[in-house]
Amino acid sequence: MHMEKKLDRPLKKPVLDIGLCTLCEGCIEMAPSVFMLNNAGYIEVVDLDSYPEDAVDDAIKYCPEDCISWE
Ligand code: SF4
Repeated sequence: MHMEKKLDRPLKKPVLDIGLCTLCEGCIEMAPSVFMLNNAGYIEVVDLDSYPEDAVDDAIKYCPEDCISWE
């Protein structure tokens, strides 16, 4: 499922500590292209070729549980 892609530059990817997540969905509001609620009921980082830094930084900033970080 998680395929590693060869890229010219290192991919900066957000990661989630779902153990801390309270499912407030604030990250989905801040960066709807990056975060989604999966079928298992957890927030998941969408697989993208690149991530919108500003939107992810906002999600990191506003996540009440501090569970999002750059990998
Ligand atoms: S903003 Fe943080 S606590 Fe809220 S759903 Fe996203 S990861 Fe979970």
